[in-house]
Amino acid sequence: MDWAGNLSQADLLAEAKRLRLAHWKIQKDAGVDVIPSNDFALYDQVLAHIQDFGAVPERYSSAGLDRIDEYFAMGRGHQKGGVDVPSLEMVKWFDSNYHYVKPTLQDNQKFTLTSSPKAVNEFNEAKEAGIITRPVLVGPVSFLHLGKADRGQSVDPIDLLDNLLPVYEQLLTQLKQAGAETVQIDEPVLVFDLPAKTKAAFKPAYEKFASLGDKIPKLVFTTYFGDIVHNLESVPKDIYAVHIDLVRNPEQLDTVASALGPNTILSAGVVDGRNIWKTNFKRAIETVETAVQKLGKDRVLVATSSSLLHTPHTLASEKKLDPEIADWFSFASEKAVEVAIIAKAVTEGPASVKEALEANAKSMNARATSKRTNNPEVKDRQSKIQASDYNRKSEFPNRISQQEAKLKLPLFPTTTIGSFPQTKEIRIQRSKFTKKEITEAQYDKFIEQEIDMNVKIQDELDLDVYVHGEPERNDMVQYFGERLDGYAFTTHAWVQSYGSRCVRPPIIVGDISRPAPMTVKESKYAVSVSKKPMKGMLTGPVTCLRWSFPRDDVHQSVQAEQLALALRDEVVDLEKAGIDVIQVDEPALREGLPLRAGKEREAYLDWAVKAFKLSTVGVEDSTQIHSHFCYSEFQDFFHAIAALDADVLSIENSKSDSKLLGVFVDEAYPRHIGPGVYDIHSPRVPSEQEIKDRIEEMLQYLKPEQLWINPDCGLKTRQWKETKEALVNMVNAAKFFRAKY
Ligand code: GLN
Ligand code: ZN
Repeated sequence: MDWAGNLSQADLLAEAKRLRLAHWKIQKDAGVDVIPSNDFALYDQVLAHIQDFGAVPERYSSAGLDRIDEYFAMGRGHQKGGVDVPSLEMVKWFDSNYHYVKPTLQDNQKFTLTSSPKAVNEFNEAKEAGIITRPVLVGPVSFLHLGKADRGQSVDPIDLLDNLLPVYEQLLTQLKQAGAETVQIDEPVLVFDLPAKTKAAFKPAYEKFASLGDKIPKLVFTTYFGDIVHNLESVPKDIYAVHIDLVRNPEQLDTVASALGPNTILSAGVVDGRNIWKTNFKRAIETVETAVQKLGKDRVLVATSSSLLHTPHTLASEKKLDPEIADWFSFASEKAVEVAIIAKAVTEGPASVKEALEANAKSMNARATSKRTNNPEVKDRQSKIQASDYNRKSEFPNRISQQEAKLKLPLFPTTTIGSFPQTKEIRIQRSKFTKKEITEAQYDKFIEQEIDMNVKIQDELDLDVYVHGEPERNDMVQYFGERLDGYAFTTHAWVQSYGSRCVRPPIIVGDISRPAPMTVKESKYAVSVSKKPMKGMLTGPVTCLRWSFPRDDVHQSVQAEQLALALRDEVVDLEKAGIDVIQVDEPALREGLPLRAGKEREAYLDWAVKAFKLSTVGVEDSTQIHSHFCYSEFQDFFHAIAALDADVLSIENSKSDSKLLGVFVDEAYPRHIGPGVYDIHSPRVPSEQEIKDRIEEMLQYLKPEQLWINPDCGLKTRQWKETKEALVNMVNAAKFFRAKY
């Protein structure tokens, strides 16, 4: 697919159809009995429901767009032919890196089913190809709970349930008439802490469906990414099947199985849908057998823990992987086969899949005993960490006075977040270097020239703390992964992030260590050509972990700690190389928060904060530590942000209400903060006045001596022209306040 609109609608639809058919065939050939349909969307599944349910806000429905254009207008905005509408809000799908479009509802919201629902069309498409599928729908309670009231509206979406249920009734009836025996109805919100009203909404919804009897398909009530024990009373009793995630929460098996209705089947999610590791057959089979002992063979199904949307397509495309590690992986196609093998082992006995079980045991053993997963030096260093390794030498007041003496920064210091535009030229040279068309020396020279140029531009802009611009970095996690031991990389393992945007996360395969400095060469060069303080730029341990596929054989806190130790050495080496300001970015800290408040969340924050501190506190008091976050909603975990003890925090603020800064006042946050003064996601150049207004607002919350002036995030996706124009305005705005105070 193509963002620039270079693919015709007809071609796009034909390609999507081809892909759907190919995926159904793969699963059929793998021996999977139940093949899902309606689990693929051109942009996003939830968005497809919004359109099929007639819940399109009027600003899109009245724009005179055809159906596909209307759909994409909601997904990513539309600015063409006199129509100018921004997109609907898009947010992370639970704790994954997939994004969904939020149902955006009106006070008097009506729902009407489209004349040609996607779920029915795709069921028929598969049927024509000879495959009877199980359509997947987002359930009514989740659809509403994941939605919100539109701007200027005050409806609580869950109050719209009565309006919405008839649409589900019609849709389910149509699916039954088309020949669907079963439908998967996703209610993943059941893993959250739910308000009483939402909890109570399940009963009327699913009693209604039960009352329809044979008029609709049998329903598989599906949850994932957590346990549902705290919401057990919301699980319908009179339902065909209930699916639970037994990879994340195997301990919920007993409780959920005991609470099922007398005829309800348990769908046991024992193959991880969120990761790339081979399933441990022995463990999975034991889990399924426990379920069988409780419920009987006829009442247990084997499944993946969640949709396979979150795993890459097939291992068969990976030609360059070291065979030792390739043997540990299983992507979506391979996971489909695993489900079939586990089911067979349980129904026909282990002898029926003897070879597969033996091969699996061998892989498990090879991984557990590999040198990669057992680096004694790393383990030894981890065992020697002491309490004092988590703290700076002095408290902030002492540090900041030393830093000020050294850096001599003006009031309202200006800086940027790290990256400068990644131009076509940079991509060309990087690709030449990767293909060995130019030598390392030639490439290094090119990077130095880019740094020279970036420094010169910052001189002209008269910024206060410089960055080298990150021209050498392909991606803020991959770049570090490639320089650390313990990582592996794929060539084709893409997973959907939003719309047609995909990411190819590196994989943590073993104990992590740093064989050599990773960024010192570029930073040292940058310092040597700069007359102002130059920031060293690193990606923090939690972000390296979250934006990779983590190991599943050791706890994430252990992996974060290993990353932290490697980064600690890098921070100290940067300091030794004369870099006085070091920024360690942690934009992924918040998305790692466990879905429910309480013990698990506190435990996460504890190890995440420790990892950040371990990586940053090895420096002298006079070295200034910065950190960056791409958001400003810290209310739920402010204590953790404060505990990072970073000297300067830069955060997103231009799209949020400055009121959010109130938390820094309420908690008497003493350190420095740079709330972003303009949005870098758009080419739009903010005027000097606009930035001044923003700063004025910030000064209602923050003290002048606390406030830094910077954009919201890195500038790598921008062009130079708008970047320079925006930064000129930003620096002028800062100078205005400097003169005033
Ligand atoms: N230093 C990084 C950059 O500027 C930060 C990116 C991010 O926060 N996502 O590109
Ligand atoms: Zn950012």
